[in-house]
Parts: sequence; C-alpha cells; structure tokens
Amino acid sequence: MTMLDTPTTESLAPDFVGELIAPEHPAYDTARRIWNGEIDRHPALIARCQGASDVAAALRWARASGLPVAVRGGGHGIAGHSLVDDGVVIDLSGMRGSVVDPVARTVSAQGGALNAHVDRESQAFGLAMTSGYISHTGIAGLTLGGGIGHLMRKTGLAIDALRSCQVVTADGSIVRASESENADLFWGLRGGGGNFGVVTDFTFELQPLGPTILAGLVAWPADEAPMVLAFLRDFIVEAPDEVGLMANLRLAPALPLFPEHLHGKPIIGLVTTYAGSIEDGERVLAPVRALGNPVLDTIGPKAYVAHQKFLDPAVPHGRHYYWKSHRLGPLTDEVIAIICEHLATISSPLSTVPIFSFGGAMSRVSEDATAFQHRDASHDINIVASWLPEQAGDAYRHRAWVAGFFNALAPHSQGVYVNFTSDDAQTRVRDAYSPTQWHRLQALKSTWDPDNVFRGNANIPPLG
Ligand SMILES: Cc1cc2nc3c(=O)[nH]c(=O)nc-3n(C[C@H](O)[C@H](O)[C@H](O)COP(=O)(O)OP(=O)(O)OC[C@H]3O[C@@H](n4cnc5c(N)ncnc54)[C@H](O)[C@@H]3O)c2cc1C
Repeated sequence: MTMLDTPTTESLAPDFVGELIAPEHPAYDTARRIWNGEIDRHPALIARCQGASDVAAALRWARASGLPVAVRGGGHGIAGHSLVDDGVVIDLSGMRGSVVDPVARTVSAQGGALNAHVDRESQAFGLAMTSGYISHTGIAGLTLGGGIGHLMRKTGLAIDALRSCQVVTADGSIVRASESENADLFWGLRGGGGNFGVVTDFTFELQPLGPTILAGLVAWPADEAPMVLAFLRDFIVEAPDEVGLMANLRLAPALPLFPEHLHGKPIIGLVTTYAGSIEDGERVLAPVRALGNPVLDTIGPKAYVAHQKFLDPAVPHGRHYYWKSHRLGPLTDEVIAIICEHLATISSPLSTVPIFSFGGAMSRVSEDATAFQHRDASHDINIVASWLPEQAGDAYRHRAWVAGFFNALAPHSQGVYVNFTSDDAQTRVRDAYSPTQWHRLQALKSTWDPDNVFRGNANIPPLG
C-alpha cells in the first residue's frame, strides 16, 4: 500500500482484536473526546487496543498507510497530543488493568491505566507510589514525563519508582526496558515523554502507606496570600519528607464548605498531605493550621485514595482549558507579588493556579539518572484558565489572562516541566531538559525512532 491508496480498516481487522472506530462508527464522536474540551480533532481511525500485539499491528498498519500516529493513554494532555486529524489514534483506554505483587511490593499497570486504578489496587495492599494530584490523569503520560504528586517528597517522582516497561517501538517490535535490558531506552523513558515508543505496561516499586493518612485543605482570603506564600517558601525547606504541600489560588466556589461572603472572591489554599503517622502529622502540620486567619481547615485522618480524588471536581472532563507553566526557584517577594497581582485579575471562576512544592526524596536523585531536569528547583506553577464550552466567545479573555501572568513570571523562570507544556510544547521542549540530557535524548531518538513516527508529543527530533 502507498500513501496514495486509501487505507481500509479491513486490512487491519484480521490482525487486531480490539475495536476499530472509524468516522462512520456510532461511537466515533464519543471516542474522539479527550479531557480538554478545546481540542476537536477528527482522526481517520481510532484503534482501541487490547494489548501490545494490537498496538504493534495498528502501528505497522498506520506506517504502511502513510498516516500520522497519535498515542492515547489517559487522554489528559493539555495540548491534545493524543488526538490527530486524519491519522491513527493508538488508543490504550481499553488497557487499564493493574496487578499488585504484595511480596515484591510492585504494581504492574497497563499503558491506559489512570492514577485512580493504580492507587486503588496498591492501597488494597497498604502500598502506594507517587501518582498525580488528579485521579483521572493517565499513568502513562504522567510517568513518561516524570510524575509529580502528593508523595514525591517522600517516595520520589513516578519515574524514580519505575522498574521496567514493555514498549512497542517504532518498527512494531515489542521490547522490555529496565536497568538491565535496553538500559539506554529505559533512561529516555524516564522523562523523555512518548518519544521512543508506546509503553504498554509499567512496573513500579511501591512503598507502605496508610491507608489512612493525615491530609486536607486549609484556605485563607486573598489578602493573606502573600503571607501564606512566604510561609510555604520557608516552611517547605525545613519540612520532613513526609510533608506534601501544594498551594492553589482561585475564586472561592459557591460551596457550603466556604463562608458565603467569600463565594466568588479570590482565596488561597494549601493542600496538605502527611505521608507518615497521624500523630507525627498533627505535630508537623500544626504551623500550617496556626497561620493567619484560615476560613477553612479540613485537615484530618483520611483515606489516601479519597485524598487522591478530592481535587478531581475542580478539573472535570469536557470543560475548555488553556494553561502555561514555569519551573520556579524559591518564591521571592517579587514572585509572590506577581502571583497575588494576577490572582486579583483572574478572569474565570473556574480557573485555578496550583503551585507544587519540590524537595525531599525527588531532589536527592542525581540529574544524570533520568531525563528530568531541575530536581533542585523549588516549585512548578501552572496558570490554568478554564471556562464552559458555551462560553467559547470569552476564550480570548481567559487566554490573555494566562499570557499576561505567564509573561510577568518569565524573568523568574528556570524552565518548564515537559508534562506542563501546552500549545508551546514544540518551542519550549528544550527548556525541559539540560543540554546534556537533550543531547542524549536526541541520540536515543535517532536509535529508537529515526523517522520520528512518535512526533505527536513535546517532540525530541532525531539528530540531523
Ligand atoms: C488536570 C490535570 C492534572 C494533572 N496533574 C498532574 C500531576 O499531578 N502530576 C503530573 O506529573 N502531571 C500532571 N498533569 C500532566 C499530565 O501528566 C500530562 O498531561 C500527561 O501527559 C497526561 O497523561 P495521559 O496519559 O493522561 O495523557 P495523553 O493525553 O493520553 O498523552 C499525553 C502524551 O503522552 C503520550 N502517551 C500517552 N500514553 C502513552 C503510552 N502508553 N506510551 C507512550 N506515550 C504515551 C501521548 O502520545 C501524548 O504525547 C496533569 C494534567 C492535567 C490536565
């Protein structure tokens, strides 16, 4: 078959056990929806795979047909790289199984699994790894870029827990990657994104946790935001690894949880997690609760899996989103002033500004060990605008707020987390890596994907 032939799915069907969803299929419009409702693309085919052999078959077929390829794990990527117009989506949403080995303390998760699946299975055995702050994010995209979350200061990034992967490479071969098998590929998979192949299975090491931990949200009105951010800057430096702290700035939603006079008004929250004993947590987190005049304090013993889900309603599927992000050092007074100034002008009640705090175990892993840069940085900030699909006419206003905020912080930026790149993925991908990492990633790309088949991502082009 050449690029000029019209490829037919009949030629793929005998070699494929999953579902083939072409535009005429009744499920097509549902199947092409992803988390970000802004993204509206029309693939030629969605190949909903059942296993690595389906992935290999769909990939070979797409290449033989001359069609571009997109890979979908959890479908959560802000830029919509998991969808491609007129190409083939290798869709792993039918591959969400996770199996725990409680003796080896590992979990094996298929490439379409979500954080929620991995957390739930692991916690059934009193075990956990760092997964993301939102339970409906895909473990695949999250891990391949690094994987930050509530537990990163205690147990490291998701890539630090990764022990092996099963990968379908660009030529359709199925290989394993670990420290002892294809070690070069394994290095690249830990931070290099989906550039080197389709990962159909991840094996992670788990650590004991909970299942009940001390966690919750403390919130203050906006006039206390400078004080709260200065506290975060100083407290996190001395805090034990067990402490996870994420600031979140937004307009208070009209929920009974918040005092009515604050509904629609700017607030700042600290999402707190203590990955140790409840008693130690009460003592260590006491200064957070004693700070200023909080309007809300939900810290208490809580199931870890519930904590992993409690931010989910803030970022549901199907709403429209636009965001930009910076990696930051310590929150200087100047940075804090910029953040507070832009909180005051936030353009949508659905927008949020999470600030993630690094340090602890993740910062003690050598920068050579994986393709994740700036482990010694202090924070990532995400400027997330969100609005309803029927408010499309306001999109420019929300995007302008993100751009103004992002530009004001640019002089303080240390780079970007590759998983937080968006429509700027291609122009900023180099900022996610050190020059040494970038060179090594490009060399790996030349070996494992010389034709750049996997370019629907924050793309690392092959050398030359
Ligand atoms: C609301 C929200 C919350 C988030 N929270 C966190 C967080 O707490 N921590 C964090 O680290 N990140 C977080 N992220 C960023 C997230 O990690 C990335 O968006 C990630 O790419 C999502 O993975 P996915 O599999 O769901 O995405 P998809 O959109 O399916 O894929 C994203 C990219 O990964 C590639 N990919 C997906 N699956 C595979 C696979 N199996 N093999 C090879 N390549 C694959 C895709 O081709 C695409 O380029 C968040 C994102 C959102 C939108």
